[in-house]
Amino acid sequence: MAALWDFPDFDDHEDVHLFRDPESGLTAVIAIHSTHLGPAGGGVRFWHYADKNAAIIDSLRLSRGMSYKNAMAGLAMGGGKGVILAGADKIKSPAIIAAFARSIDRLGGRYVTAQDVGMSAQDMIDLHAVTPFVSGLPPKAGGAGGDPGPSTAKGVFLGVQAAAKRALGASDMKGVRVAIQGVGSVGGGLARYLAEAGAILTLADVDQGRARHLAKSLGAAVVDAHCIMTVEADIFSPCALGAILDETSIADLRVKAVAGGANNQLARPDHGRELQARGILYAPDYVINAGGIINVATEYLGDGGTTEVDAKIAGIPSRLSSIWDESTATGLPPSDVADRMARSLIGR
Ligand code: NAD
Repeated sequence: MAALWDFPDFDDHEDVHLFRDPESGLTAVIAIHSTHLGPAGGGVRFWHYADKNAAIIDSLRLSRGMSYKNAMAGLAMGGGKGVILAGADKIKSPAIIAAFARSIDRLGGRYVTAQDVGMSAQDMIDLHAVTPFVSGLPPKAGGAGGDPGPSTAKGVFLGVQAAAKRALGASDMKGVRVAIQGVGSVGGGLARYLAEAGAILTLADVDQGRARHLAKSLGAAVVDAHCIMTVEADIFSPCALGAILDETSIADLRVKAVAGGANNQLARPDHGRELQARGILYAPDYVINAGGIINVATEYLGDGGTTEVDAKIAGIPSRLSSIWDESTATGLPPSDVADRMARSLIGR
């Protein structure tokens, strides 16, 4: 069996911590990819993995992604990720949360946690009762923080607008056709912004009732979840799962651009080149979906309130434009350009 250092996803991470608390039943990993720009910020997920190495690999990949995301968002934060290994029953006890909080605390602020899959806003409050190294707490009036979804949706909307301008020459969203995969917190918020701006929407969600309900209120069309990636539109906006862009799905796309909020949209890094080969503009996921982390990092770092958060989110389109400019100049796909920019910002 390969040693951790030899895992393909090990990217000279600064440190990887394995925690076990027999009394509560906690088994957890905190991977710190980089603290070059500040404390390693990144959410904690509570997830049932097939085996423990799968959890470690997830933490390695996701923490590197957070380094890139935070750096490209101009935040004074490095990248880290927490993973709590859930049992098959996925029962999350107060004792597990408290034990994870003590684990974070032992790292003395090198890792700052936030909400991710399987964790709730209340979990953040409970963690914070034990350790100060928590972001995404309920905001005070006019303050940053709280649920990152709406801020992510706002940033993705601005990024979709930028993609429409770049790929279609559209000066606004009136009549631009956008197909959205997943209408939860991010995709639902995005759909509302786009409808308000006059876009023509096609929505899909595995929760068909949710898609239909939203479509009715916005005057949008609905298709089955398995059809959304082949809908003819101007922009495809993935806002559900990761790893949805592979050889087969890219070949079937009938759009000019892919711009959405889902994390890790490319099944493999080289799929960025396949999008480019098909003439489809790609908005690198961790650049366009940084609104939520901008919100909670601003809260944690005490860098301002909602006005400052909005000002930073407003920078997302210009970051995308500089990536696309560099892509045109070098011939590299936007995903590779973004990775290069991010790595240079974190001194790699
Ligand atoms: P959510 O759970 O609120 O919404 C996801 C929606 O996608 C749900 O309605 C779900 O039913 C639907 N869905 C799941 N599988 C689907 C499929 N195969 N086809 C169509 N719909 C499907 O989650 P969210 O917070 O909106 O996050 C969506 C994506 O954005 C995730 O990839 C997440 O990692 C990423 N993201 C979220 C944030 C945030 O602030 N919430 C920030 C950055 C990235």
